[in-house]
Amino acid sequence: MTELSTLILDRIRDVPDYPKPGVMFKDITPLLADPVAMAAVVDELAGLHQVDKIVGIEARGFILAAPVAYRAAAGFVPVRKKGKLPAATLEESYDLEYGSATIEVHRDAFAPGDRVLIVDDVLATGGTAKAAVELVERAGAAVVGIAVLMELAFLKGRERLPGVELHSLVIV
Ligand code: AMP
Repeated sequence: MTELSTLILDRIRDVPDYPKPGVMFKDITPLLADPVAMAAVVDELAGLHQVDKIVGIEARGFILAAPVAYRAAAGFVPVRKKGKLPAATLEESYDLEYGSATIEVHRDAFAPGDRVLIVDDVLATGGTAKAAVELVERAGAAVVGIAVLMELAFLKGRERLPGVELHSLVIV
């Protein structure tokens, strides 16, 4: 266990049965509130790849991706739930346990060939991350990696992301 993984693990709180029975929610707010741990996380993520843009996935991904973009001297691009972005978008739908979800990105968010790191808090089934990869690629950019604070290994999200470099700061 590295010093960084301990810093993260100690500051992610398990909240049982949220938002519904049977789900163990990984609450990152204690980590966000700790400036030393946050600085270590942001520095680690900013050093993973040389990129042009950092993509944050709504909503907790935004909180991490924006300071990482600043630290990496890269641009920040939001991937949002459908209906939230004001200009012309591309969209990608994916299946959830019940029903489906749609995420969007602005069509003009990237310059052709931009190198992109996608950032989110938790990788669970991998559906969101996979949809984000497809969206970024359709928008003309190249995904060089996905980074999450925590990967829930038992949900096998990693298997849905073949060929993408996945960086999980903690795997549980
Ligand atoms: P998935 O598409 O199943 O990989 O789910 C990933 C998305 O849902 C991420 O944006 C996470 O923020 C959120 N998420 C899924 N499961 C959890 C969990 N147990 N705790 C916190 N967030 C989660």
